[in-house]
Amino acid sequence: MVRVIVVGAAGRMGRTLIKSVVEAEDMELVGAVEWAQCPALGMDAGVCAGLKPCGVKLTAELRPLLKGADVIIDFSTGTVVENATAAVEANVAAVVGTTALGDDKIAALRGLAAKGGRLVQATNMSVGVNLLFHLCGEVAKILGDYDVEIIETHHNQKKDAPSGTAMTLAEVVAAAREVCLKDEIRNGRSGLPGARTPSEIGVHAVRGGDVVGDHTVLFATQGERVELTHKASSRETFTKGALRAARFLQDAKPGLYTMRDVLGFN
Ligand code: NAD
Repeated sequence: MVRVIVVGAAGRMGRTLIKSVVEAEDMELVGAVEWAQCPALGMDAGVCAGLKPCGVKLTAELRPLLKGADVIIDFSTGTVVENATAAVEANVAAVVGTTALGDDKIAALRGLAAKGGRLVQATNMSVGVNLLFHLCGEVAKILGDYDVEIIETHHNQKKDAPSGTAMTLAEVVAAAREVCLKDEIRNGRSGLPGARTPSEIGVHAVRGGDVVGDHTVLFATQGERVELTHKASSRETFTKGALRAARFLQDAKPGLYTMRDVLGFN
């Protein structure tokens, strides 16, 4: 059995993760962590996830739980690097799903891997989106001079924009075209931005309703458009991927892995 701690347990992803872990035959939920002011602290994690009680209470303290765990799965919007550091220090693997971490936090996770940590970090854990990353890179190489625009749509409660997945897609296009993303990214347009430059990579965020996550990569030229689209209709597509990542790390050597490593696309 893989013993799992869910961090960010009362959130949308956290509750879906608890359900996926409780339902997985090869996994045991051994901890559910939330921030100190969360109103759900002390609540049974199963009840929090809309299931029957499972005997694990939501707590604000991660460290005391680590000695009885094999992996933390963190989709919290809080202290992600601190949580991963505590896990690595206790020889516990870490799956990090939180987006908008920024270069400094990704570098910190890489540093933990260099110290012997086993981690998976991915802006999107779904199999379909990781296939989209792969296809997007191939198409960007083949359609080298087409205009590229990335459009993402999410529910109206999403805090960060553009989505981490849209940013990964933009990085994939930039890498395929051997350009620097920071120089080429155009986040939305307004006013009089002028004609589009051939090399720019447009990234646009749409927010509304309960959309779990849609991503389209548009390749356009004179006379035709090619669109690659992924639509997530349930958060379980992400949590199933997170569980695969947790299993993968049980036998992995130290390192900071992506979902493409987990799924064997690299
Ligand atoms: P949410 O706001 O519903 O949940 C976040 C939870 O984290 C909240 O319950 C909050 O109280 C908790 N939290 C905040 N600080 C904390 C701390 N210090 N310790 C523990 N818990 C803390 O958000 P969500 O929709 O569940 O999304 C969470 C994150 O996951 C976002 O960054 C989102 O973009 C990302 N996400 C990633 C994937 C993926 O596949 N990688 C998929 C969907 C969402």
